[in-house]
Amino acid sequence: MSTRKLRQFRGTTCLNCETALDISEKYCHQCGQLNSTKKLTIADFFEEFLSNFYAYDSRLRNSIVSIFTKPGILAREFNEGKRQKYANPFRLFLSVSIVLFISFSIGNETVNLGYSEYTKNEISEKQFDSLKSNKHLTLEKINDKYSLMYHTDSIYNYKELSFDNNTLLNSLPISTFRNFNLKYPGKTTEESLKELEFENTFYNRLFFEKAKTFKSNNINREISDYFYQKLPFLIFLSLPILTLMFWLVYIRNKINYTEHLVFSYTFFTFLFICSTLFNLLHLINTNLANILSGFSFLILFPIYFYKSLRNFYQQGRWKTILKFVILNPLFGLFLFISAIIMMFIGIVLF
Ligand SMILES: [Zn+2]
Repeated sequence: MSTRKLRQFRGTTCLNCETALDISEKYCHQCGQLNSTKKLTIADFFEEFLSNFYAYDSRLRNSIVSIFTKPGILAREFNEGKRQKYANPFRLFLSVSIVLFISFSIGNETVNLGYSEYTKNEISEKQFDSLKSNKHLTLEKINDKYSLMYHTDSIYNYKELSFDNNTLLNSLPISTFRNFNLKYPGKTTEESLKELEFENTFYNRLFFEKAKTFKSNNINREISDYFYQKLPFLIFLSLPILTLMFWLVYIRNKINYTEHLVFSYTFFTFLFICSTLFNLLHLINTNLANILSGFSFLILFPIYFYKSLRNFYQQGRWKTILKFVILNPLFGLFLFISAIIMMFIGIVLF
């Protein structure tokens, strides 16, 4: 117990905001500062620091515990007026997002795979032999022409790639461009395309430039990682629009847009905390992280989402299930459209 709180140190004006105070007031009724005229000692100074810290800390703890144990309740209680008990949902969501973005950059190791001088026939013979010696493989797999004829670490010209029409639709031209550029870094885009017998079109030039920015020949993996990493950012930006869907589906409830928004922020705070934990676990044990995140996205998160809807909007089981069923494809469609827009922006800008 600090001596600063004693009656003998109380004043008649608040030192912070100059509001007139009564000697009976422990705290200023205007700004909340402790009514004390006592000069600070070192002990008081640190106590002040710790009590501020603890006040936020306990709100943060209340919020996290509530989010993990009682889905949807925090948002409802916050809207009903329990504002001092919890950290501000937007502020919490903002902090959690920043932590999530940091966790992505920690886990992002760079493997700089180069090209190797595999020729087309060499790779087919090598792979064919290994496939033949493996008795567990089905005939179907051996006949997989794609895996026999191409290797992402090799360089192919347009004719070789267009031999099988499908290869032009997958990532092989990109890895070919990348390998060519690694082998002949001095050559311009136009010269490289000419030697690879690709037409000098706008898209080929664009893809050649993009190919240089890849860190490995695992093009599909890098692209999917890129989207996985951008997804939280996409959700972060589009949450106010995403919230419109709650508003639409629950249009007959007397809940305003801001209250729906509080619900969205707390729901995604939960998802983002879990994603951060999975990212960190991924650094320690990749398999365990994959199993846990797979389980969560398939089973745990849908259940959590359902529980949140039920606790927040307080509708019956069947009504909630119906709305759950309507909301999921709406989100899917929305994220799909956003991802396509992002992809176009991504190709042009990055
Ligand atoms: Zn005051």
